[in-house]
Amino acid sequence: MDNKLSAIVEGWKNFIFHDPEIEKIALERAKICSTCPSNTFNVCKECGCVLSAKTRSTKSTNVCPLNKWDKINTTNGNTE
Ligand code: SF4
Repeated sequence: MDNKLSAIVEGWKNFIFHDPEIEKIALERAKICSTCPSNTFNVCKECGCVLSAKTRSTKSTNVCPLNKWDKINTTNGNTE
């Protein structure tokens, strides 16, 4: 499975089966995405991903295309 598909599949899995630590990360990412001009109806225009899944994927290949998530510590969801 290619990296992008694998990351989104993992994101949807985490959307269905909530993990509290991943939800913390997703919430911080979603806050950033909510004010991003590239967010169009919960889809990232830069990569074409649905943000409900994208924000919940913990794969290292799953990054914000505009590097807006860089300040989020992905191990615990806290901002730096
Ligand atoms: S560019 Fe980054 S911040 Fe903007 S919607 Fe896409 S993932 Fe979210």
